[in-house]
Amino acid sequence: WKHAPETFRALLDNSRLHGEQIFLVYEDERISYEEHYRRAATLAVRLVEDYGVAKGDRVAIAMRNYPEWVVAFSAALAAGAIAVPLNAWWTGPELEYGLSDSGAKVLIADGERAERAQGAGVPMIVTRAAGPLPAGARAFTDVLGEVRAEVTPPPVEQAPEDPATIFYTSGTTGRPKGALGTHRNLGQSPMSVAYALLRSVALAGKDPSTAAGTRRITLLAVPLFHATGCFAVMAPTMFTGGGLVLMYKWDPGQALRLIEREKVTTMTGVPTNAWQLLSHPDFGDHDISSLGGISYGGAPAPPKLLERIGDRLPRRQASNGYGMTETTALAIYNSGPTYLARPDSIGLPLAVCDARVRDPLGVEVPVGQVGELCLRGPNVIAGYWNRPDSTAETFIDGWLHTGDLAKVDEDGFVYIVDRAKDMVIRGGENVYCAEVEAALFEHPAVDDAAVIGIPDEELGEQVGAVVRLRPGASADAEELRGFLDGVLAPFKIPVRFWFRETELPRNPGGKILKTHLRKETLGL
Ligand code: ATP
Ligand code: MG
Repeated sequence: WKHAPETFRALLDNSRLHGEQIFLVYEDERISYEEHYRRAATLAVRLVEDYGVAKGDRVAIAMRNYPEWVVAFSAALAAGAIAVPLNAWWTGPELEYGLSDSGAKVLIADGERAERAQGAGVPMIVTRAAGPLPAGARAFTDVLGEVRAEVTPPPVEQAPEDPATIFYTSGTTGRPKGALGTHRNLGQSPMSVAYALLRSVALAGKDPSTAAGTRRITLLAVPLFHATGCFAVMAPTMFTGGGLVLMYKWDPGQALRLIEREKVTTMTGVPTNAWQLLSHPDFGDHDISSLGGISYGGAPAPPKLLERIGDRLPRRQASNGYGMTETTALAIYNSGPTYLARPDSIGLPLAVCDARVRDPLGVEVPVGQVGELCLRGPNVIAGYWNRPDSTAETFIDGWLHTGDLAKVDEDGFVYIVDRAKDMVIRGGENVYCAEVEAALFEHPAVDDAAVIGIPDEELGEQVGAVVRLRPGASADAEELRGFLDGVLAPFKIPVRFWFRETELPRNPGGKILKTHLRKETLGL
Protein backbone atom coordinates (compact mmCIF):
# COMPACT_ATOMS: atom_id res chain seq x y z
CA TRP A 1 0.00 0.00 0.00
CA LYS A 2 1.05 3.56 -0.58
CA HIS A 3 -1.10 4.46 2.38
CA ALA A 4 -2.76 1.68 4.28
CA PRO A 5 -6.53 1.84 3.85
CA GLU A 6 -8.41 3.27 6.83
CA THR A 7 -5.65 5.73 7.62
CA PHE A 8 -5.96 9.47 7.59
CA ARG A 9 -3.29 9.82 4.90
CA ALA A 10 -5.43 7.76 2.54
CA LEU A 11 -8.44 10.00 3.30
CA LEU A 12 -6.44 13.21 2.89
CA ASP A 13 -4.66 12.16 -0.31
CA ASN A 14 -7.95 11.00 -1.77
CA SER A 15 -9.57 14.37 -0.96
CA ARG A 16 -7.36 15.96 -3.63
CA LEU A 17 -9.56 14.25 -6.18
CA HIS A 18 -12.19 16.85 -5.42
CA GLY A 19 -9.73 19.59 -6.48
CA GLU A 20 -11.39 22.97 -6.88
CA GLN A 21 -14.74 21.93 -5.40
CA ILE A 22 -15.49 23.96 -2.28
CA PHE A 23 -14.89 21.98 0.90
CA LEU A 24 -15.29 24.55 3.70
CA VAL A 25 -17.56 27.60 3.84
CA TYR A 26 -17.29 30.03 6.73
CA GLU A 27 -19.00 33.40 6.41
CA ASP A 28 -17.50 34.79 3.16
CA GLU A 29 -14.52 32.43 3.14
CA ARG A 30 -14.50 29.47 0.78
CA ILE A 31 -11.76 26.86 0.82
CA SER A 32 -11.43 24.30 -1.93
CA TYR A 33 -10.28 20.74 -1.39
CA GLU A 34 -6.96 21.50 -3.11
CA GLU A 35 -6.38 24.57 -0.94
CA HIS A 36 -7.24 22.64 2.20
CA TYR A 37 -4.84 19.86 1.21
CA ARG A 38 -2.00 22.31 0.62
CA ARG A 39 -2.52 24.12 3.90
CA ALA A 40 -2.78 20.87 5.86
CA ALA A 41 0.33 19.39 4.24
CA THR A 42 2.29 22.62 4.80
CA LEU A 43 1.27 22.87 8.44
CA ALA A 44 2.13 19.17 8.94
CA VAL A 45 5.67 19.84 7.68
CA ARG A 46 5.97 22.84 10.00
CA LEU A 47 4.76 20.80 13.00
CA VAL A 48 7.50 18.27 12.35
CA GLU A 49 10.27 20.73 11.50
CA ASP A 50 9.53 23.66 13.85
CA TYR A 51 7.90 21.89 16.77
CA GLY A 52 9.62 18.49 16.62
CA VAL A 53 6.29 16.66 16.41
CA ALA A 54 6.96 12.93 16.01
CA LYS A 55 4.71 9.95 15.51
CA GLY A 56 2.35 9.47 18.47
CA ASP A 57 2.89 12.96 19.94
CA ARG A 58 -0.28 14.79 20.88
CA VAL A 59 -1.29 17.97 19.04
CA ALA A 60 -4.21 19.74 20.72
CA ILE A 61 -6.76 21.98 19.01
CA ALA A 62 -8.94 24.52 20.82
CA MET A 63 -11.08 26.52 18.42
CA ARG A 64 -14.53 27.45 17.39
CA ASN A 65 -15.71 25.95 14.08
CA TYR A 66 -13.27 27.85 11.89
CA PRO A 67 -11.82 26.34 8.69
CA GLU A 68 -8.46 26.29 10.53
CA TRP A 69 -9.90 23.68 12.88
CA VAL A 70 -10.11 21.26 9.96
CA VAL A 71 -6.67 22.30 8.70
CA ALA A 72 -5.15 21.80 12.16
CA PHE A 73 -6.83 18.42 12.60
CA SER A 74 -5.66 17.26 9.17
CA ALA A 75 -2.13 18.57 9.73
CA ALA A 76 -1.78 16.87 13.12
CA LEU A 77 -2.77 13.51 11.67
CA ALA A 78 -0.74 13.95 8.49
CA ALA A 79 2.30 14.63 10.71
CA GLY A 80 1.73 11.27 12.43
CA ALA A 81 0.53 12.86 15.68
CA ILE A 82 -2.59 12.11 17.69
CA ALA A 83 -5.08 14.97 17.25
CA VAL A 84 -6.64 16.13 20.53
CA PRO A 85 -9.64 18.41 19.95
CA LEU A 86 -10.52 20.29 23.12
CA ASN A 87 -13.88 21.72 24.02
CA ALA A 88 -13.99 25.38 22.96
CA TRP A 89 -16.44 26.14 25.77
CA TRP A 90 -13.93 25.07 28.38
CA THR A 91 -12.56 27.63 30.83
CA GLY A 92 -8.84 28.17 31.41
CA PRO A 93 -8.49 25.47 34.09
CA GLU A 94 -10.50 23.01 31.98
CA LEU A 95 -8.31 23.64 28.94
CA GLU A 96 -5.26 23.18 31.15
CA TYR A 97 -6.71 19.86 32.31
CA GLY A 98 -7.14 18.70 28.68
CA LEU A 99 -3.63 19.79 27.76
CA SER A 100 -1.95 18.12 30.71
CA ASP A 101 -4.15 15.00 30.63
CA SER A 102 -3.23 14.43 26.99
CA GLY A 103 0.37 15.63 27.40
CA ALA A 104 0.04 17.91 24.38
CA LYS A 105 3.27 18.99 22.69
CA VAL A 106 1.68 21.94 20.93
CA LEU A 107 -1.70 23.67 20.93
CA ILE A 108 -3.33 25.15 17.85
CA ALA A 109 -5.93 27.62 19.12
CA ASP A 110 -8.00 30.62 18.18
CA GLY A 111 -7.20 33.93 19.90
CA GLU A 112 -9.83 33.60 22.59
CA ARG A 113 -8.86 30.03 23.56
CA ALA A 114 -5.12 30.86 23.38
CA GLU A 115 -5.66 33.62 25.90
CA ARG A 116 -7.47 31.21 28.22
CA ALA A 117 -4.97 28.37 27.89
CA GLN A 118 -1.73 30.30 28.17
CA GLY A 119 -1.23 29.26 31.79
CA ALA A 120 -0.59 25.68 30.65
CA GLY A 121 2.79 26.67 29.19
CA VAL A 122 2.29 24.62 26.02
CA PRO A 123 3.71 26.16 22.79
CA MET A 124 0.85 27.73 20.83
CA ILE A 125 -0.01 28.42 17.22
CA VAL A 126 -2.76 31.05 17.18
CA THR A 127 -5.34 32.01 14.61
CA ARG A 128 -7.96 34.81 14.56
CA ALA A 129 -6.47 36.76 17.46
CA ALA A 130 -8.07 40.15 18.07
CA GLY A 131 -5.07 41.62 19.92
CA PRO A 132 -1.40 40.78 20.54
CA LEU A 133 -0.52 37.11 20.95
CA PRO A 134 0.35 35.62 24.34
CA ALA A 135 4.11 35.46 24.99
CA GLY A 136 5.85 32.72 23.03
CA ALA A 137 2.88 32.05 20.75
CA ARG A 138 3.20 32.26 16.96
CA ALA A 139 0.57 33.32 14.46
CA PHE A 140 -1.01 30.54 12.40
CA THR A 141 -0.31 32.41 9.14
CA ASP A 142 3.38 32.96 10.09
CA VAL A 143 3.86 29.30 10.92
CA LEU A 144 2.19 28.29 7.70
CA GLY A 145 4.34 30.71 5.68
CA GLU A 146 4.09 30.33 1.94
CA VAL A 147 1.70 27.59 0.87
CA ARG A 148 3.11 25.97 -2.27
CA ALA A 149 1.27 23.90 -4.81
CA GLU A 150 3.72 21.00 -4.78
CA VAL A 151 3.92 20.41 -1.01
CA THR A 152 3.74 16.86 0.32
CA PRO A 153 3.04 15.87 3.93
CA PRO A 154 5.90 14.40 6.02
CA PRO A 155 6.73 10.78 5.17
CA VAL A 156 5.31 8.96 8.20
CA GLU A 157 4.09 5.40 8.10
CA GLN A 158 0.54 4.96 9.36
CA ALA A 159 -1.12 1.68 10.22
CA PRO A 160 -4.85 1.18 10.85
CA GLU A 161 -4.14 0.22 14.48
CA ASP A 162 -2.16 3.40 15.21
CA PRO A 163 -3.84 5.84 17.58
CA ALA A 164 -5.22 8.85 15.73
CA THR A 165 -7.48 10.89 18.00
CA ILE A 166 -8.30 11.68 21.61
CA PHE A 167 -11.80 13.12 21.87
CA TYR A 168 -13.09 14.00 25.30
CA THR A 169 -16.53 12.63 26.18
CA SER A 170 -19.00 15.40 26.80
CA GLY A 171 -18.89 15.08 30.60
CA THR A 172 -22.56 14.42 31.30
CA THR A 173 -21.78 11.85 33.99
CA GLY A 174 -18.55 13.24 35.39
CA ARG A 175 -15.15 14.45 34.31
CA PRO A 176 -14.68 14.08 30.54
CA LYS A 177 -12.62 11.02 29.58
CA GLY A 178 -10.25 10.96 26.62
CA ALA A 179 -11.60 8.43 24.11
CA LEU A 180 -8.58 7.08 22.22
CA GLY A 181 -9.51 6.31 18.61
CA THR A 182 -7.37 4.62 15.99
CA HIS A 183 -6.98 5.33 12.30
CA ARG A 184 -9.30 2.39 11.68
CA ASN A 185 -12.02 3.97 13.86
CA LEU A 186 -11.60 7.25 11.95
CA GLY A 187 -11.43 5.47 8.57
CA GLN A 188 -14.63 3.64 9.42
CA SER A 189 -16.61 6.85 10.04
CA PRO A 190 -17.33 7.71 6.36
CA MET A 191 -18.34 4.08 5.89
CA SER A 192 -20.72 4.23 8.85
CA VAL A 193 -22.41 7.29 7.39
CA ALA A 194 -22.52 5.65 3.93
CA TYR A 195 -24.21 2.58 5.40
CA ALA A 196 -26.76 4.80 7.10
CA LEU A 197 -27.45 6.86 3.95
CA LEU A 198 -27.77 3.82 1.71
CA ARG A 199 -30.28 2.34 4.10
CA SER A 200 -32.25 5.64 4.14
CA VAL A 201 -32.35 5.75 0.34
CA ALA A 202 -33.43 2.12 0.08
CA LEU A 203 -36.13 2.67 2.70
CA ALA A 204 -37.44 5.64 0.73
CA GLY A 205 -38.03 3.21 -2.15
CA LYS A 206 -35.21 4.52 -4.35
CA ASP A 207 -32.27 2.72 -5.93
CA PRO A 208 -29.21 3.66 -3.84
CA SER A 209 -26.87 3.18 -6.81
CA THR A 210 -28.53 6.02 -8.71
CA ALA A 211 -29.50 8.25 -5.82
CA ALA A 212 -26.60 10.70 -5.70
CA GLY A 213 -28.24 13.38 -7.83
CA THR A 214 -27.12 16.67 -6.30
CA ARG A 215 -24.01 17.71 -4.45
CA ARG A 216 -24.37 17.24 -0.73
CA ILE A 217 -23.92 20.48 1.22
CA THR A 218 -24.12 20.02 4.98
CA LEU A 219 -24.72 22.73 7.53
CA LEU A 220 -22.97 21.76 10.74
CA ALA A 221 -24.94 22.91 13.78
CA VAL A 222 -22.64 21.35 16.38
CA PRO A 223 -18.97 21.74 17.29
CA LEU A 224 -16.23 19.95 15.37
CA PHE A 225 -14.63 19.02 18.71
CA HIS A 226 -17.40 16.52 19.43
CA ALA A 227 -17.50 13.14 17.71
CA THR A 228 -20.63 13.95 15.66
CA GLY A 229 -19.14 17.05 14.04
CA CYS A 230 -15.82 15.47 13.22
CA PHE A 231 -16.66 11.83 12.48
CA ALA A 232 -20.28 11.86 11.32
CA VAL A 233 -19.99 15.05 9.27
CA MET A 234 -16.48 16.33 8.55
CA ALA A 235 -14.75 13.04 7.67
CA PRO A 236 -17.57 11.68 5.46
CA THR A 237 -17.79 15.06 3.69
CA MET A 238 -14.05 14.98 3.03
CA PHE A 239 -14.36 11.43 1.70
CA THR A 240 -17.12 12.16 -0.78
CA GLY A 241 -16.19 15.72 -1.77
CA GLY A 242 -19.29 17.48 -0.47
CA GLY A 243 -19.45 20.96 1.02
CA LEU A 244 -19.36 21.78 4.72
CA VAL A 245 -20.90 25.03 5.97
CA LEU A 246 -19.50 26.07 9.34
CA MET A 247 -20.95 28.45 11.91
CA TYR A 248 -19.09 30.30 14.66
CA LYS A 249 -21.86 29.35 17.01
CA TRP A 250 -25.32 27.91 16.65
CA ASP A 251 -27.90 30.54 15.78
CA PRO A 252 -31.16 29.34 14.21
CA GLY A 253 -31.83 32.63 12.37
CA GLN A 254 -28.34 32.57 10.87
CA ALA A 255 -28.82 28.89 10.00
CA LEU A 256 -31.95 29.75 7.98
CA ARG A 257 -30.02 32.44 6.09
CA LEU A 258 -27.15 30.03 5.39
CA ILE A 259 -29.44 27.24 4.19
CA GLU A 260 -30.94 29.67 1.67
CA ARG A 261 -27.65 31.25 0.59
CA GLU A 262 -25.56 28.09 0.31
CA LYS A 263 -28.36 25.82 -0.93
CA VAL A 264 -27.73 23.50 1.96
CA THR A 265 -29.10 20.01 1.38
CA THR A 266 -28.82 18.63 4.89
CA MET A 267 -28.26 19.84 8.43
CA THR A 268 -26.72 17.81 11.22
CA GLY A 269 -26.91 18.65 14.89
CA VAL A 270 -28.57 17.74 18.15
CA PRO A 271 -32.38 17.57 18.44
CA THR A 272 -32.48 21.05 20.01
CA ASN A 273 -30.93 22.54 16.85
CA ALA A 274 -33.61 20.98 14.63
CA TRP A 275 -36.36 22.13 16.97
CA GLN A 276 -35.08 25.71 17.13
CA LEU A 277 -34.60 25.93 13.36
CA LEU A 278 -38.12 24.74 12.60
CA SER A 279 -39.69 26.88 15.34
CA HIS A 280 -37.91 30.13 14.45
CA PRO A 281 -40.18 33.16 13.90
CA ASP A 282 -38.44 33.90 10.54
CA PHE A 283 -38.89 30.36 9.31
CA GLY A 284 -41.47 31.28 6.65
CA ASP A 285 -39.33 34.13 5.23
CA HIS A 286 -36.64 31.85 3.82
CA ASP A 287 -36.47 29.63 0.79
CA ILE A 288 -35.18 26.39 2.24
CA SER A 289 -36.38 24.17 -0.61
CA SER A 290 -32.83 22.80 -1.05
CA LEU A 291 -33.00 21.20 2.39
CA GLY A 292 -33.74 17.54 1.77
CA GLY A 293 -33.53 16.47 5.38
CA ILE A 294 -32.35 17.01 8.90
CA SER A 295 -30.26 14.57 10.91
CA TYR A 296 -29.78 14.71 14.60
CA GLY A 297 -28.58 12.62 17.46
CA GLY A 298 -26.43 12.73 20.54
CA ALA A 299 -29.38 13.29 22.89
CA PRO A 300 -32.95 12.01 23.15
CA ALA A 301 -35.24 13.46 20.47
CA PRO A 302 -38.67 14.49 21.81
CA PRO A 303 -41.49 12.91 19.75
CA LYS A 304 -43.04 16.34 19.09
CA LEU A 305 -39.95 17.18 17.01
CA LEU A 306 -41.05 14.70 14.38
CA GLU A 307 -44.49 16.35 14.20
CA ARG A 308 -42.88 19.70 13.59
CA ILE A 309 -40.72 18.19 10.87
CA GLY A 310 -43.86 16.75 9.28
CA ASP A 311 -45.47 20.21 9.31
CA ARG A 312 -42.53 22.28 8.19
CA LEU A 313 -39.95 20.32 6.22
CA PRO A 314 -40.83 19.95 2.53
CA ARG A 315 -39.60 16.39 2.13
CA ARG A 316 -40.16 15.36 5.73
CA GLN A 317 -36.87 13.51 5.80
CA ALA A 318 -35.56 13.19 9.31
CA SER A 319 -33.13 10.82 10.90
CA ASN A 320 -32.13 10.09 14.44
CA GLY A 321 -28.65 8.72 14.99
CA TYR A 322 -27.42 7.18 18.21
CA GLY A 323 -23.76 7.31 18.96
CA MET A 324 -21.13 8.08 21.52
CA THR A 325 -17.65 9.47 21.57
CA GLU A 326 -16.60 5.86 22.18
CA THR A 327 -18.33 4.67 18.97
CA THR A 328 -16.64 7.30 16.78
CA ALA A 329 -20.13 8.85 16.45
CA LEU A 330 -22.69 6.80 14.56
CA ALA A 331 -23.67 3.28 15.72
CA ILE A 332 -27.48 2.96 15.49
CA TYR A 333 -29.71 4.83 13.08
CA ASN A 334 -33.39 5.46 12.37
CA SER A 335 -34.63 7.35 9.33
CA GLY A 336 -37.48 7.87 6.87
CA PRO A 337 -40.48 5.51 7.01
CA THR A 338 -39.16 3.37 9.86
CA TYR A 339 -38.56 6.50 11.92
CA LEU A 340 -42.11 7.74 11.23
CA ALA A 341 -43.43 4.33 12.24
CA ARG A 342 -41.29 4.15 15.39
CA PRO A 343 -40.58 7.75 16.45
CA ASP A 344 -39.34 6.68 19.87
CA SER A 345 -36.73 4.25 18.52
CA ILE A 346 -33.12 5.00 17.61
CA GLY A 347 -33.47 2.37 14.88
CA LEU A 348 -31.31 -0.53 13.83
CA PRO A 349 -27.58 -0.95 14.43
CA LEU A 350 -25.37 -0.24 11.41
CA ALA A 351 -24.48 -3.32 9.41
CA VAL A 352 -20.98 -3.42 10.92
CA CYS A 353 -21.99 -2.79 14.52
CA ASP A 354 -23.17 -5.55 16.86
CA ALA A 355 -25.61 -4.58 19.61
CA ARG A 356 -26.76 -6.60 22.62
CA VAL A 357 -28.86 -5.66 25.64
CA ARG A 358 -27.59 -7.32 28.79
CA ASP A 359 -28.45 -7.65 32.46
CA PRO A 360 -25.92 -6.72 35.17
CA LEU A 361 -24.46 -10.24 35.01
CA GLY A 362 -23.77 -9.90 31.31
CA VAL A 363 -26.60 -12.17 30.17
CA GLU A 364 -28.61 -11.02 27.16
CA VAL A 365 -32.17 -10.06 28.20
CA PRO A 366 -35.28 -11.22 26.30
CA VAL A 367 -37.02 -9.03 23.70
CA GLY A 368 -38.78 -6.05 25.28
CA GLN A 369 -36.85 -6.09 28.54
CA VAL A 370 -34.61 -3.31 29.74
CA GLY A 371 -30.87 -3.86 30.14
CA GLU A 372 -27.59 -2.15 29.36
CA LEU A 373 -26.83 -1.54 25.70
CA CYS A 374 -23.48 -3.09 24.68
CA LEU A 375 -21.78 -2.50 21.33
CA ARG A 376 -18.96 -3.99 19.29
CA GLY A 377 -17.57 -3.16 15.87
CA PRO A 378 -14.88 -1.33 13.88
CA ASN A 379 -16.35 2.00 15.00
CA VAL A 380 -15.87 1.15 18.70
CA ILE A 381 -12.66 2.40 20.30
CA ALA A 382 -10.44 0.16 22.42
CA GLY A 383 -10.25 2.35 25.52
CA TYR A 384 -9.59 5.66 27.24
CA TRP A 385 -6.36 7.58 27.26
CA ASN A 386 -4.41 6.96 30.47
CA ARG A 387 -7.40 5.55 32.35
CA PRO A 388 -6.90 1.82 32.80
CA ASP A 389 -9.66 1.60 35.43
CA SER A 390 -12.39 3.26 33.35
CA THR A 391 -11.21 1.27 30.34
CA ALA A 392 -11.49 -2.03 32.22
CA GLU A 393 -14.96 -1.09 33.55
CA THR A 394 -16.35 0.01 30.21
CA PHE A 395 -14.74 -2.34 27.69
CA ILE A 396 -15.33 -5.96 28.65
CA ASP A 397 -14.38 -8.84 26.36
CA GLY A 398 -14.37 -6.53 23.37
CA TRP A 399 -17.80 -5.07 24.17
CA LEU A 400 -18.39 -1.42 24.97
CA HIS A 401 -20.78 -1.03 27.89
CA THR A 402 -22.56 2.18 26.96
CA GLY A 403 -24.13 3.05 30.33
CA ASP A 404 -27.43 3.46 28.45
CA LEU A 405 -30.46 1.44 29.39
CA ALA A 406 -32.24 0.10 26.34
CA LYS A 407 -34.66 -2.48 25.02
CA VAL A 408 -35.06 -4.13 21.63
CA ASP A 409 -38.35 -5.05 19.94
CA GLU A 410 -39.08 -8.20 17.95
CA ASP A 411 -37.87 -6.52 14.73
CA GLY A 412 -34.52 -5.57 16.25
CA PHE A 413 -35.31 -1.85 16.74
CA VAL A 414 -33.51 -0.35 19.70
CA TYR A 415 -35.15 2.01 22.21
CA ILE A 416 -33.11 4.06 24.67
CA VAL A 417 -34.92 4.07 27.98
CA ASP A 418 -32.50 6.18 29.99
CA ARG A 419 -28.95 6.52 31.11
CA ALA A 420 -28.11 4.05 33.86
CA LYS A 421 -26.95 7.02 35.91
CA ASP A 422 -30.06 9.09 35.18
CA MET A 423 -32.63 7.04 36.97
CA VAL A 424 -34.57 8.03 40.06
CA ILE A 425 -35.06 5.09 42.40
CA ARG A 426 -38.18 5.81 44.40
CA GLY A 427 -38.82 3.27 47.11
CA GLY A 428 -37.14 0.55 45.05
CA GLU A 429 -39.15 1.48 41.95
CA ASN A 430 -37.11 2.66 38.95
CA VAL A 431 -38.28 5.89 37.40
CA TYR A 432 -36.63 6.69 34.08
CA CYS A 433 -36.13 10.45 33.90
CA ALA A 434 -36.30 10.37 30.11
CA GLU A 435 -39.80 8.90 30.19
CA VAL A 436 -41.14 11.56 32.56
CA GLU A 437 -39.42 14.31 30.56
CA ALA A 438 -40.98 13.04 27.31
CA ALA A 439 -44.43 13.10 28.93
CA LEU A 440 -43.89 16.67 30.18
CA PHE A 441 -42.78 17.79 26.71
CA GLU A 442 -46.22 16.88 25.41
CA HIS A 443 -47.76 19.72 27.41
CA PRO A 444 -48.17 22.75 25.12
CA ALA A 445 -46.81 25.22 27.71
CA VAL A 446 -43.59 23.29 28.32
CA ASP A 447 -40.53 24.49 26.48
CA ASP A 448 -37.92 22.41 28.27
CA ALA A 449 -37.90 19.97 31.18
CA ALA A 450 -35.48 17.95 33.26
CA VAL A 451 -36.32 15.37 35.87
CA ILE A 452 -34.11 14.90 38.93
CA GLY A 453 -34.15 12.80 42.07
CA ILE A 454 -34.87 14.58 45.35
CA PRO A 455 -33.32 12.82 48.36
CA ASP A 456 -36.04 11.46 50.61
CA GLU A 457 -35.61 9.83 54.00
CA GLU A 458 -38.41 7.38 53.56
CA LEU A 459 -38.31 6.50 49.88
CA GLY A 460 -34.64 7.11 49.16
CA GLU A 461 -35.59 9.46 46.34
CA GLN A 462 -38.62 11.33 45.13
CA VAL A 463 -39.24 12.60 41.60
CA GLY A 464 -38.76 16.31 40.93
CA ALA A 465 -38.92 18.32 37.72
CA VAL A 466 -37.34 21.55 36.58
CA VAL A 467 -39.44 23.17 33.90
CA ARG A 468 -39.06 26.13 31.62
CA LEU A 469 -42.28 27.38 30.12
CA ARG A 470 -42.72 28.78 26.64
CA PRO A 471 -42.69 32.60 26.55
CA GLY A 472 -46.18 33.85 27.30
CA ALA A 473 -47.47 30.42 28.34
CA SER A 474 -48.62 29.62 31.84
CA ALA A 475 -49.00 26.43 33.85
CA ASP A 476 -48.42 25.62 37.49
CA ALA A 477 -47.45 22.43 39.29
CA GLU A 478 -51.06 21.40 39.76
CA GLU A 479 -51.82 21.83 36.08
CA LEU A 480 -48.78 19.76 35.06
CA ARG A 481 -49.53 17.02 37.58
CA GLY A 482 -53.09 16.84 36.29
CA PHE A 483 -51.77 16.56 32.75
CA LEU A 484 -49.52 13.62 33.67
CA ASP A 485 -52.24 11.88 35.61
CA GLY A 486 -53.36 8.87 33.60
CA VAL A 487 -50.32 9.17 31.29
CA LEU A 488 -47.78 8.04 33.87
CA ALA A 489 -48.13 5.74 36.85
CA PRO A 490 -48.67 7.84 40.01
CA PHE A 491 -45.20 7.04 41.46
CA LYS A 492 -43.56 8.58 38.38
CA ILE A 493 -45.37 11.92 38.61
CA PRO A 494 -43.11 14.65 40.04
CA VAL A 495 -43.99 15.68 43.57
CA ARG A 496 -42.19 18.96 43.19
CA PHE A 497 -41.73 21.38 40.32
CA TRP A 498 -39.26 24.20 39.92
CA PHE A 499 -40.09 26.78 37.27
CA ARG A 500 -37.27 28.77 35.78
CA GLU A 501 -37.06 31.53 33.23
CA THR A 502 -33.52 30.93 32.09
CA GLU A 503 -32.42 28.09 29.81
CA LEU A 504 -31.59 24.76 31.40
CA PRO A 505 -27.83 24.20 31.64
CA ARG A 506 -26.75 22.13 28.63
CA ASN A 507 -23.37 21.06 27.35
CA PRO A 508 -22.51 21.74 23.70
CA GLY A 509 -23.65 18.19 22.94
CA GLY A 510 -27.20 19.26 23.77
CA LYS A 511 -27.37 17.29 26.98
CA ILE A 512 -28.77 18.73 30.17
CA LEU A 513 -26.14 18.89 32.88
CA LYS A 514 -28.07 17.32 35.71
CA THR A 515 -25.26 17.61 38.21
CA HIS A 516 -25.36 21.42 37.70
CA LEU A 517 -29.11 21.41 37.88
CA ARG A 518 -29.17 19.40 41.10
CA LYS A 519 -26.68 21.80 42.60
CA GLU A 520 -28.71 24.84 41.51
CA THR A 521 -32.09 23.56 42.68
CA LEU A 522 -31.24 21.32 45.62
CA GLY A 523 -27.84 22.62 46.62
CA LEU A 524 -26.44 19.06 46.31
P1 ATP B 1 -19.75 11.32 29.58
O1 ATP B 1 -19.53 9.96 28.97
O2 ATP B 1 -18.50 12.09 29.78
O3 ATP B 1 -20.63 11.30 30.78
P2 ATP B 1 -21.62 11.73 27.37
O4 ATP B 1 -21.95 10.28 27.50
O5 ATP B 1 -22.76 12.70 27.37
O6 ATP B 1 -20.57 12.20 28.50
P3 ATP B 1 -21.13 11.61 24.55
O7 ATP B 1 -20.23 10.55 24.10
O8 ATP B 1 -21.11 12.92 23.84
O9 ATP B 1 -20.80 11.94 26.05
O10 ATP B 1 -22.64 11.14 24.49
C1 ATP B 1 -23.06 9.79 24.33
C2 ATP B 1 -24.39 9.58 25.00
O11 ATP B 1 -25.41 10.42 24.41
C3 ATP B 1 -24.96 8.19 24.86
O12 ATP B 1 -24.40 7.32 25.81
C4 ATP B 1 -26.46 8.43 25.07
O13 ATP B 1 -26.79 8.50 26.44
C5 ATP B 1 -26.69 9.79 24.46
N1 ATP B 1 -27.24 9.69 23.09
C6 ATP B 1 -26.55 9.74 21.94
N2 ATP B 1 -27.35 9.67 20.87
C7 ATP B 1 -28.61 9.54 21.34
C8 ATP B 1 -29.90 9.40 20.72
N3 ATP B 1 -30.04 9.41 19.40
N4 ATP B 1 -30.96 9.27 21.54
C9 ATP B 1 -30.83 9.27 22.89
N5 ATP B 1 -29.65 9.41 23.52
C10 ATP B 1 -28.55 9.54 22.76
MG1 MG C 1 -20.76 8.66 28.00
